[in-house]
Amino acid sequence: MNAAKPAQSEKFEVCVVGGGATGWAAALVAAASGRETAIIAPPVDFPPGRTAALFAGAVELLTSLGAMEELAGSAAALEAMRLVDDTGRLLRAPEVIFWASEIGLDAFGYNIANRRLVETLSALGRDNRRITHFEEPAAELAFGENEGRLTTKGGAHIVADLVVGADGSRSLVRERVGIGMRRWQMEQSALVTTLSASFDHRNISTEFHKPNGPFTLVPMPGANVSLVWVERPVETKRLCQMPEEEFAVAAEQSAHSLLGEMQLTAPRVSYPLSVGLAERFAASRAVLIGEAAHVFPPIGAQGLNLGLRDVEALQSLLATRRGPLGQETAEEFHRLRQTDVRSRTLAVDLLNRSLLTGMLPVQALRAIALSAAGGFAPFRRFLMHQGLARTFREI
Ligand SMILES: Cc1cc2nc3c(=O)[nH]c(=O)nc-3n(C[C@H](O)[C@H](O)[C@H](O)COP(=O)(O)OP(=O)(O)OC[C@H]3O[C@@H](n4cnc5c(N)ncnc54)[C@H](O)[C@@H]3O)c2cc1C
Repeated sequence: MNAAKPAQSEKFEVCVVGGGATGWAAALVAAASGRETAIIAPPVDFPPGRTAALFAGAVELLTSLGAMEELAGSAAALEAMRLVDDTGRLLRAPEVIFWASEIGLDAFGYNIANRRLVETLSALGRDNRRITHFEEPAAELAFGENEGRLTTKGGAHIVADLVVGADGSRSLVRERVGIGMRRWQMEQSALVTTLSASFDHRNISTEFHKPNGPFTLVPMPGANVSLVWVERPVETKRLCQMPEEEFAVAAEQSAHSLLGEMQLTAPRVSYPLSVGLAERFAASRAVLIGEAAHVFPPIGAQGLNLGLRDVEALQSLLATRRGPLGQETAEEFHRLRQTDVRSRTLAVDLLNRSLLTGMLPVQALRAIALSAAGGFAPFRRFLMHQGLARTFREI
C-alpha cells in the first residue's frame, strides 16, 4: 500500500468514495484492471449480529478477488430456502422450500458477517500496491471538464478520471453530481441479532412472512442463526427493550419452535427501513454503486447482492476500456445497470406490500404465485435462477 499524502494534490485514474463492502470490492476490481486507484474510506464498524446472505454471483466475484478463501471458515452455506406464509390470513400460501441441488448447486450461496466481509476486503485492498487509502471522509467534490476533484476532511486533494460513489444511502457523490433519489419511507424497522439454537439449522434459511413483515432465520456457522425481524417501529422498540430471556422465548414462539429453544448471542440492533432509487446510476464522471444507488429493505436478501453486481458491471467496463476513463464510461455504466436495479426494486417493494396489505385480491395473487412456486417445477427453477442472478449480464 502507498502511504497517503495529506494536503497534496494526487492524480488517480479511479477514486472510490466509501469503504463498505461495495467500495472495497470496487477498488480491488479497478486496481486489478491496472488503474491507479484511490479509496476514501473512514473505518467501518458493523454490529456483530449483522450478516448478509450472498448468492452465487456475489460469491464468484468475492472468489475472483481472493476474499472467499479467507472467509470460508466464517461463512455458512445456504443449501435451501424455506418460505412460510405466517400471515394467519384467510388466503394463505402453502410452505415452499427451494433446494440448491434442484438447479445443480451445492448451495445457493453463503451467509457472511458484514464485519468480517469488510475486514477481509479492506485487508486485501491495503496490501494492493495500486490502491492508496485515505482514511478520512470525503468533504468536498466538484467535477471539471476532464476530472473529478475531491478533498478529504483532513485536507488531502485528489484528482481522478472517474469517481465511484460507494458512500451509502446519504451519498455525497450522488448529491454533488446532481442526481436525485426517490425514497419511500416504510412504516417498518428491522431488528437484527444472532441466536444459538438447540436444533440443527441444516443450512436451511427460513423466511416467515408475517402480517407486519418477514421474520428470517439465516444459518451461521455451528449452532448459530442470524435473525432479521421486520416489524412496526413501535414493536421493534419493545422487542429491543425486552429482557434477554423473554426476547429469546418471543423469538422461539415466532419461529414456531422450528429450531427449538434459542439463546441470544449478540446485542439487538434496530434499523429503520426505507426504499430508495437514484434517478440515474451515473452522470458526468461519477458512477453510483451499492446503497448510493439503491436502498432495499432486507426482504429476499437482495441489497448487497445487487451492489456487488454493480461492481461486476464496473469490472467488465474497466476490462474493455482502453485509455482515460470519462463520461462515456459513466454513461455505459448507467445503461448496463438500469434493468436489473429497477426490476429488483420493484419486485422487493411489491413483495413487501403484498404482505402488509389487507386486500383479499392481492393476498389471493400472492398465495397463487407461491403455490405455483411450490408445485410447478419449471416455475420453481425460473424463480431460483432469478433469485440467484449469477452475473449482471443474466438479467
Ligand atoms: C437488517 C439488514 C439485513 C440485510 N441483509 C442482507 C442480506 O442478507 N443480503 C444482501 O444482499 N443484503 C442485505 N442487506 C443490505 C446490505 O447490508 C447493504 O446493501 C450493504 O451493506 C450496502 O453496502 P454499501 O457498501 O453499498 O454501503 P455501506 O455499507 O453503507 O457503506 C457505505 C460506506 O460509505 C462511508 N461513507 C459515507 N459518507 C462518506 C464520505 N463522505 N466519505 C467517505 N466515506 C463515506 C460510510 O462510512 C460507509 O462505510 C441488509 C440490510 C439490512 C439493513
